[in-house]
Amino acid sequence: MKKIILFIICTQLITISQELKLFGVAQPGNAIIGKADNISQVMLNDKILQFDKNGYFTFGFDRDAKGTHLLKIKYTNGKSEIKRFDLPGREYEIQKITSTKQEFTGPPPEELPRIEREREIMRNARRKIGIIDTAYFSSGFMLPIKNAKITGVFGSQRIINEVPQNIHNGIDYAAPTGTDVFAMADGLVQLAGDNFYYNGNFVLIDHGQGLSSIYLHLNKLSVATGEFVTKGQKIGEVGTTGRSTGPHLHLGVNWYNNKIDPNSLIGIGL
Ligand SMILES: [Zn+2]
Repeated sequence: MKKIILFIICTQLITISQELKLFGVAQPGNAIIGKADNISQVMLNDKILQFDKNGYFTFGFDRDAKGTHLLKIKYTNGKSEIKRFDLPGREYEIQKITSTKQEFTGPPPEELPRIEREREIMRNARRKIGIIDTAYFSSGFMLPIKNAKITGVFGSQRIINEVPQNIHNGIDYAAPTGTDVFAMADGLVQLAGDNFYYNGNFVLIDHGQGLSSIYLHLNKLSVATGEFVTKGQKIGEVGTTGRSTGPHLHLGVNWYNNKIDPNSLIGIGL
């Protein structure tokens, strides 16, 4: 009798865990994509997550996330499941530079009103991200550029003359001006930015449920705000517009306000 009960418990556990699939590695700076059938609620710690009709959901850990995080899933049959993530530490590249040149000066005062206007446009576009429940990201993610050399990694920081600079929240790919840039995944263009002071020409794509990608310093844009794009579609060409020292693509990914390493999503099989 005991054996039979144990057998029943085991098969039920197996059945439940088979329903939940998680793609990605739980570490600071990474996003995870999940899929399960018959979900009634998904929570990460105290935050209720979105999920779509196919059972896809996503969440991410910020660059400096620490500690234990709990993913709680309730199913329509009343069962529930908890996954525990104990985040490991993550080391980032820190470059200490001593320079006598004033390489990184602030913007000239006459540009400040323009910079503030552009910040407001960006804030408005980012506020829309998280409204779409549909997991456009279920298309999977691909490298947005071919044959490019990585010249800047996610999470790195320069310390110039002992002054810490902004953290680099993305990946830099050096490539000649005019090199094609592709959408990493399906999504809606929330903003095709035209010659911003810092970002230059850029594209901000909403992949659903708070997940977005941004492509900066483009020479040319091939898409407009409000357009739906598919994974691998050309969205523009590499350039050095905005605050940039040479032709390259800066690729950034966010889950809401959390800064995500694009590498955590590129190539994960869904
Ligand atoms: Zn960059």
